[in-house]
Amino acid sequence: MTGSLIPHWIGGEADPGVAARSGDVFDPSTGAVSASVPFASAAEVDRAVQVAVSAFETWREVSLSRRAAIMFRFRELLVAHVDDLAAAITAEHGKVLSDAVGEVQRGIENVEFACGAPHLLKGAVSHQVSTGVDVSSLLQPLGVVAGISPFNFPAMVPLWMFPNAIVCGNTFVLKPSEKDPSASLLMAKLLQEAGLPDGVFNVVQGDKEAVDALLSHPGIQAVSFVGSTPIARHVYVTGTANGKRVQALGGAKNHMVVLPDADIDTAADAAVSAAFGSAGERCMAVSVVVAVGEVADPLVAAIAERAASVRVGPGAAADSEMGPLVTREHRDRVASYVPAAADGGARIVLDGRDQHFDGDGFYLGVSIIDDVTPDMGCYRDEIFGPVLSVLRVPDYDAALQLLRANPYGNGTAIFTRDGGAARRFVDEVPVGMVGVNVPVPVPVAAFSFGGWGDSLFGDTHMYGPEGLHFYTRSKVVTTRWPDPATSTVDLGFPQSR
Ligand code: NAD
Repeated sequence: MTGSLIPHWIGGEADPGVAARSGDVFDPSTGAVSASVPFASAAEVDRAVQVAVSAFETWREVSLSRRAAIMFRFRELLVAHVDDLAAAITAEHGKVLSDAVGEVQRGIENVEFACGAPHLLKGAVSHQVSTGVDVSSLLQPLGVVAGISPFNFPAMVPLWMFPNAIVCGNTFVLKPSEKDPSASLLMAKLLQEAGLPDGVFNVVQGDKEAVDALLSHPGIQAVSFVGSTPIARHVYVTGTANGKRVQALGGAKNHMVVLPDADIDTAADAAVSAAFGSAGERCMAVSVVVAVGEVADPLVAAIAERAASVRVGPGAAADSEMGPLVTREHRDRVASYVPAAADGGARIVLDGRDQHFDGDGFYLGVSIIDDVTPDMGCYRDEIFGPVLSVLRVPDYDAALQLLRANPYGNGTAIFTRDGGAARRFVDEVPVGMVGVNVPVPVPVAAFSFGGWGDSLFGDTHMYGPEGLHFYTRSKVVTTRWPDPATSTVDLGFPQSR
């Protein structure tokens, strides 16, 4: 083990913790260990939660305008530090710098949304519901909220969660991915510089032990989770069994349907960027192209031509278009789908294992597998790497059947020139986010984000209006005041009006 220790952040201070266990953090471009990260025990999680519980008592009283002002300053600091954050992300995740910058920028949009809290948290009033009776509703914070995030967006996904939670008056404990924990620390320091009181935002580093401690801790009122489907299910089942509000976003298997009338060049460009951008380690990555009718041959040829020239290299190198995968084990698992598909009768158009890379970085070239059938592992599993499967179907109904039978429902896209066909697809497909001639519907802060089926456990999507709903509870107040004209003290009101 080499390098430094990436600490927790508790009560406004970096905290190395006392954990008996820790994990290695790698530089995926070299394969070398760059740092270690402590794995919090249940006792350390408890310490962070107690700090957040105590900070809640004062933070909930802070005015909305002051909370929003802190978010405005945080936004400015994030903008000033985009490159620092991107460099930290690339160093631990491996994605190319332009992707890392894009992730921070998408995250900043959530901070901008949270800056609107004084408007967004307005309650409602019905005047004179009954004679002399008014009814109003207030939105109040829940208390301490936990966020548990995945490795693939170490800045953006936490930013989906904590700006809205905090601006609503909650305090927060973040458990980032142990694979790339540094971005969470940078953001904690920027929040402090923006004027956030200590204890409002805390980070506990760790793995399953820390997650399970959060899920059962009586001081935690709600849990936002983003990660793979099996863990999302576990978090949802355990958190709700412990009486917590839970939103748990899971994995994905996103299909891109290409109809015979589609523009082949547009569809091929989209497939390559959506399948291989960020090495396929995106929950909105396209991992299946469904080629309808005679579009298949020219489409596969156009995708293969483009994919063959994707430049794979270190994320920090200016000419790299795709970086390494996050760990060696993940790279090897992703690569294993290619020979398994060939054994099952699929046609390997491009084999990422053929590309040679010097050194020990976790690199893999891009792969395209054609003539895939729904029973193959490369179709059934979320691969989460640069492997694109192509299924050929005779018509639109067969494409729709595939999507309807798939357990995931995160994102999908259709490519066609026919507005009626696109409209019907949008209506019929059981998926939470749909692109029309757009490969990856990009997260937009004012629209909440989430899938259907096994891609979401709970009923609340992340951030935007549904995020505010998730982080608040409403209180309905019914008020009656006697008519001042009936007062026993002369207030100067006439007897009637
Ligand atoms: P993961 O499920 O392995 O880990 C997510 C979080 O859960 C991490 O903080 C991790 O420490 C923790 N965790 C891991 N195993 C656990 C266990 N057994 N018990 C309790 N906690 C555990 O996911 P990942 O590999 O970090 O991220 C990739 C996954 O996230 C992919 O499946 C991807 O589709 C998904 N994802 C989904 C969305 C979405 O919006 N739906 C967005 C980003 C990523």
